[in-house]
Amino acid sequence: MRSLFFLSLMLILFAACNSKTASVTSGSVSQTAPYIWDGPNFPKNVKISTAFTDPGETAKITEMATAWDSAMNNQVQFFNFIIGTESEKTNSISGPNQLRDNVFGIYKAANWPYPEYPDALAITQIFAIRYNSGSSNEYVAIQEADIIMNDENFDFDTGGFDYDFRTVLLHEMGHFLGLQHKPRDYNRNNTVMYPSIYSYETKRIPQTIDKQDLSEKYNIVLPLTAGGSAITSDPVSYTKKPGDAGEVVKVILELRANGDCIHRMDGVETERHHIRGLK
Ligand SMILES: [Zn+2]
Repeated sequence: MRSLFFLSLMLILFAACNSKTASVTSGSVSQTAPYIWDGPNFPKNVKISTAFTDPGETAKITEMATAWDSAMNNQVQFFNFIIGTESEKTNSISGPNQLRDNVFGIYKAANWPYPEYPDALAITQIFAIRYNSGSSNEYVAIQEADIIMNDENFDFDTGGFDYDFRTVLLHEMGHFLGLQHKPRDYNRNNTVMYPSIYSYETKRIPQTIDKQDLSEKYNIVLPLTAGGSAITSDPVSYTKKPGDAGEVVKVILELRANGDCIHRMDGVETERHHIRGLK
């Protein structure tokens, strides 16, 4: 079944890269608005679903979290995992506010709860408040984030024609922390936040640009790089306008197996990246 599904994906021809800004309830969503945790107090307690029954899986989740910590020279511990206490909620959720429960989780969906996105490898779903809407300093303050792996339509780490669990997870954890994609003309080998992932592709360590982006976002000062140049800051002002109550939004960051990665905010597509074919 899974291989049939995948083969059908391989046969589909997709349209060229389509990037657009769409309207939501008020104003237009900025593609470039940065994301940051609303109260960046780390670590975030993250519950790992009981559906991850293989200790090897939870070990890989921990390993990728450690990779993000190591990228910051262990000055921050981003994640504190709680294993084996959270049921697989994706089996019984529905509606637009699914998983909005103030629990940050990593889920393994055997029954993929996003039928509108059947070919997503994984989704990072974020509830946030958008401030300074429509302004150049618009930003998105994350209140809750969950990572959901698509275990219904895809195999991970079977050794066959599949996707690398850790590569997908490291990327999704980057979204969890507020990182967005690098442009598609960026060298895919130089970032783990490239908008697509191939089967067989393994990227399990944040690269220099990923470190820089994360250190800037949370003002984590890193030592000189091996080349002698300091990782310097290009600070973004995460300051809301006086009296701005903000706008609650749900953001879905969808990583698709076909090479598209689509961002949706309140159900409206805000950004799409596409890589045509394998190269
Ligand atoms: Zn992504």
